[in-house]
Amino acid sequence: MVLAADRTLMSPYRGISLASFFGCAPALDFNRDHNSFWYYVMRNQVTPRVLFDFICNPIDHTNGVANYAPYGLRKVEAALLRDGYKPEDVVVSHPDHVEKFIGPETEVVGTYEMDPLGMGPVTMTFTYGRKQMSYDEFYNRELHIRINAAKARTGSKAKVIAGASGTWQYNYDPAKIEEYGLYGIVEGDLGGIGPELDGAAGAFFDALIAGECDTANNPFKKSQFKVEIKEFVRDGRTFHGRFIHYWNEPSVSEIPTIVNPSMHGMVEVMRGCGRGCKFCDVTLRPLRYYPVEKVQKEIEVNMKYGGVKNAWIHSDDIFVYGLNPRTTKNMQPNREALEELFKGIMATGIEHTNPTHGTLAGAIADERLIPNVSKIIRASPDNHIGIQCGFETGSIRLIGKYADRKLAPYKPQEWHWLVKTAIKTLNENYWVPAFTLIMGLDNDETPEDSWETIRLIHEIEIEQPDSKFTTTPLTFVPIGLLEKSDFYDIGNTMDPAKLGVMYKTWQHNFRYGIQKFMGKVGRDNPIKNWFFSQLAATLGGVPLSAMERFARRKGSEHEHVIEKIKAKYW
Ligand code: SF4
Repeated sequence: MVLAADRTLMSPYRGISLASFFGCAPALDFNRDHNSFWYYVMRNQVTPRVLFDFICNPIDHTNGVANYAPYGLRKVEAALLRDGYKPEDVVVSHPDHVEKFIGPETEVVGTYEMDPLGMGPVTMTFTYGRKQMSYDEFYNRELHIRINAAKARTGSKAKVIAGASGTWQYNYDPAKIEEYGLYGIVEGDLGGIGPELDGAAGAFFDALIAGECDTANNPFKKSQFKVEIKEFVRDGRTFHGRFIHYWNEPSVSEIPTIVNPSMHGMVEVMRGCGRGCKFCDVTLRPLRYYPVEKVQKEIEVNMKYGGVKNAWIHSDDIFVYGLNPRTTKNMQPNREALEELFKGIMATGIEHTNPTHGTLAGAIADERLIPNVSKIIRASPDNHIGIQCGFETGSIRLIGKYADRKLAPYKPQEWHWLVKTAIKTLNENYWVPAFTLIMGLDNDETPEDSWETIRLIHEIEIEQPDSKFTTTPLTFVPIGLLEKSDFYDIGNTMDPAKLGVMYKTWQHNFRYGIQKFMGKVGRDNPIKNWFFSQLAATLGGVPLSAMERFARRKGSEHEHVIEKIKAKYW
């Protein structure tokens, strides 16, 4: 069994975990005018590959075996070993050495794919709706080219199966199924969510090897894996794909504990989220929490075998940890459970920890929560705690319509107050929120909704000039309860006000986030300092001027919006 992931998912990103978003950057523009200056200088490259490869440095390996791997891949590895596969039969390969492990005896090559075709929300924003090829797609394609070359060279009949949270993308570009020679694609049943295969990995690989997934299921035979052969017609051609559905959610005791180090010291503390935002697929999963001892065991694996000194706590909304959304009034956080969790995490001896995600409402619903947790995890001016939070929109109408429980115990009318208060509370305790916004939410965002977002960001800048936060606009992708909706097509339907949201968010990041704080982050280390200066220039100045050029091309309405933001909301 060969488990693999591409370079963008297997890089330490020079120790800066947030830089892993760089995989979403555009790599190639196949539509560039061959007579243009840029084609003469860069050919098809957009973000220079030399820069990308420097930032996305390869992970260490031992004879081709990856020393660190994405957390989800580690879970599948652990589940196979738990379910009876021998260690010598399972390998997690380094992307540059995957061919070493593929030969006539290889039964299955399982690829872990989060954004295989560059259709994730961040990537769609950076590539103008996939008009360019992102590095996520570029390196995933390269991985499949290597796998196929190794199979052809050795006569291997290994079944290549793609799994993880990005596999839904193959439904939108089925030609890639054929191009990559995929035997199958693992899909969840609940709105296309990534399945939780680690509950039954052994049984799944057994079924693959035994050929039980070769044909669509016999309706009279009971199987926990449902095989569906989908047919797609695109541009007059017909494509087929074998989609394998798995719909069980393992209980916490059925979820294996990792046995080898994960990327970035990531460990999980919960699955699912009870907040019910309509645009999110996490909320379709049942809510489960790891007990503290299970979390500690995984951190200890990372420390012992990976020398890791931090624990990146994967959580969908950390402030939901330990509560029951059905019985807890107004989603009131369980402060005691959170304090116990973080005390247990720090007791392992790690130096730094931070949760991946959390809601603003959860952060302030109990006024003692953030101050108490901050003391436990030793947050300080020299130890900032980064957390990704959904800002989503400044529109009270949209937040009420699509994510009202995200605000509980508060009401949609209190959204602006909530955002401002939460930023203040988080910053005072040395937390820095990285906000994501959704552009074109369910294709229901009006210009007035967009202007409400622009005004809210500006109000925070004026009222709290020293506040620390970043804002990243993402384009709407139809997942979760909105999976039947259409993608927001940023390339063709960017109205002036939405361009304004994009412009304002990057202007904020450049002026208030990147320029102001990146220098501080890198002040002690010349390499980091250089890196952050490059980052500041790339992430800040380049997109702003690109948007100004785009506005000039689009015409006076778009240009007027840019001018208005510069004059009134800068
Ligand atoms: S709070 Fe976050 S994780 Fe939970 S449902 Fe909403 S968007 Fe999803």
